[in-house]
Formats: sequence, C-alpha cells, structure tokens
Amino acid sequence: MTQTITPCPSCGAPLASLEGHPVWCPGCGWGLGADEPQRRGLRGRFDRWSSRRVEALYAEVAQSPAERPGWDAARVASYALALGVHLCTAALVAFAVWVFAAMRTPVLIVLAVLALLVAWLLLPRFGSLRKLPDVRRRADAPALFALLDRVAAELGVKPVDAVVVSEDFNAAYGTVGLRRRRVLFLGLPLWESLTAQQKVALLGHEFAHGANGDAAHGVVVGTSLSTLARLHALLRPGPPDDRLNYLIDLCLRVVQGAASTVVGSVLVLQHMITLRAGQRAEYLADRLAARLASPEAAAGMLETLVVAEDTHLTAVQRHALAGRTAGYWDDLRGALAALPDSERERRLRVSARRRLRVDRSHPPTHLRIAVLRALPAADPALLMKPDEEQRIRTGLAADYDLIARRLHDDALERLHMG
Ligand SMILES: [Zn+2]
Ligand SMILES: [Zn+2]
Repeated sequence: MTQTITPCPSCGAPLASLEGHPVWCPGCGWGLGADEPQRRGLRGRFDRWSSRRVEALYAEVAQSPAERPGWDAARVASYALALGVHLCTAALVAFAVWVFAAMRTPVLIVLAVLALLVAWLLLPRFGSLRKLPDVRRRADAPALFALLDRVAAELGVKPVDAVVVSEDFNAAYGTVGLRRRRVLFLGLPLWESLTAQQKVALLGHEFAHGANGDAAHGVVVGTSLSTLARLHALLRPGPPDDRLNYLIDLCLRVVQGAASTVVGSVLVLQHMITLRAGQRAEYLADRLAARLASPEAAAGMLETLVVAEDTHLTAVQRHALAGRTAGYWDDLRGALAALPDSERERRLRVSARRRLRVDRSHPPTHLRIAVLRALPAADPALLMKPDEEQRIRTGLAADYDLIARRLHDDALERLHMG
C-alpha cells in the first residue's frame, strides 16, 4: 500500500494518506465531515431534549449498572398503554357478543357487525414461522445450534426453535406466531465479519433480550404499536366524496380527522416511551454479552458492527463488477483483515459524530462501546471450541452460497439501474 505525507489543511500536522481511503486528521478531526447542522424552532428544541435524554441515560448506566431490566416508569407506562389498546379491541368483541347473545334491535346488530369488523382489523398479528423465508431448523445446522444451545443455557433462556439466515448486516432475536417460537435472525455478512469470540458476544446480546423479557415486551407493545398504526391509517380522512351531501361529508371528515389525530398522538406517545425503555434494554443486553464473551469481545463486536459494513458493501460491489461468482466470503475476510487501523478509527469517529437521538431503537454505538470499555477485564463465561467456528461455517455452506449469490445478483441489479 502506498503512503504519502501531506500537512493537515486545518492544523498543519503531517497526515499519512493511505491509497483507497479518505484522508483525515486524528489531531483536529479535519476530514471527518461537517457536524449535522442545528435545526431551528421546535425541531431544534426536540434535538436538544433528545440528546440530553440520551446522555442522561448513558451517565446513569455508566455509573450504576442495572443488573435486571427492572420495572422503571418507562416500561410500566409502555405496558399500560399497550394493554389499554388491546382492551379497546376486547371491548369491541365483548360488545358484539353481548348484542348477538340477546339479539337486540336491528340498529344494534348493525353496530355489532361493524364492531366485529373493526376488531378484526385491530386484532394483534403475531406472524407465522411458516411464512418466513430461509428458516433453518436444528437438523439443518447442528453445529450452529449446538453453540446456540450453550449460549442459551449459560444465559438461562430456552433454546431457539429456528434460525432465519439473511443477507442483512445485522442480527435480531424475537418470537414468532401464536406459539411464540423463538427465532434468531442472522445476517451472514455480519456473522462472517466477527471473530469467534465476537460471535459469542453477538449471540449473548441477542439472547439477553430473551432473558430480560424484552421479547415479551416486544409482543405486547409491538402488537399495540402495529394496531395503532393500522387504526391511524384506517381513520385518516380520504379525499372528499361527491356522492355525499356536502355537509354530511364535511362532518364525517371532521370527526375522522379528530379521531385520527387522537390515535396518532397515542401512537407517538407509545413510540417515545417504548424507545426509552428499549435503549435501556440494549445497555443491559450488552452487559450480559460482556459477561458471556468478555467485555473486550463485546466491545469489539460493536466496533465491527460500525466498521465492517462499509467494507462488506464495497467488497460486494467490487466482486459483482469483476464478474466473479465464487469466493465472496474469502474476499470479505481478506478485505477486513487488510483494513488499516487509521481507517477503522476514522469510521468509529465518524459514527460518534452523529446526532444523539432518543427516538432510535438503539443507543448510539459509541456510547455502548464506552460503557463496555469501562468494565474491568474479565474471562469469558463461554469460549468457542477451537474448531467450532469452522464446523459452523461448514454446516452452513449451502446458506453461505445462497446469500453470496443473492448479494451478487442484488449488486448487479443496482449497478444496471444506476
Ligand atoms: Zn489537523
Ligand atoms: Zn439489542
């Protein structure tokens, strides 16, 4: 790799520029991009309130590590609001049952049918494992599931029922269907970017959401959020209807508009409370990941999450442009290994400059890393066995091929469109 030295345009310090990577100054921050502009008025005030909340939560978590999720005000409020929403649905059904049971007046029967229709629309949807693509069961990937089972046992959660592989650069844990099947969503590009022990940390973080009751929270509150969103869309007034009398149409639209605004406000409120509870849950999941895989591995896993995605996207594009159809995963590993330290540092610093926002599901990654780096070094509770990583890779060989092909085809499609 060729390296040239130029003075920093801002502070004059000598800067080494590496071929293929942007030049930046570690001393004064030149080249990291401009700060996001301050927004004005109400939005500006929301931004400032937002970053104060994020910083306060960080300070709280950094000082006194919460060991259990705890029923803080945000979590209680978020559950209460969600249960209120589901109670409304239940009340509609109860009303209809009462009317039909006694066969009341025709008007009431019409109302009851209407109530049932609305209740049907509002009923919580749980999804279904059968409708998900690329579901892998225990028998499909024994080596992977063996590791998942050890992680689950160590954290005291039930083993997962299925893994859904994907081309995403992330991972998630959730329950699906009325039978609440536990599913791990595993993006292979992220998985392959992590070292063995960082993989343990990733699993630890995701499974911790199961241990902390975040998944149950997700079911009750998540279904309430989607119910509110559907109701909001249903109530929004459409364009004026010519077939109706002007006054009747106007009245209908005013009532609809008012109802839609009320539902919309509840939806925003539920979002805000939930996200606050959610950000705290992320810190807690990080702490459990640190206990399982070591603080070093947990922090490294988050750094890879920030640093490696660019490398992955560039590698996919380069691969597609070169017309290569095999060996993507070797290329990705090679590109990651060749990433200079200064470029890693640059990407971490760029991500740390983003605005702190309370309305994101996760706290800013650099704050999560800071919390983990402040923990005393500790031995991992679970170590991957020497050949385990490779056995998992071999067991998933068909999936690696499938995802690489999909990445390749998607990249080609984008290149041709662009
Ligand atoms: Zn400088
Ligand atoms: Zn999480």
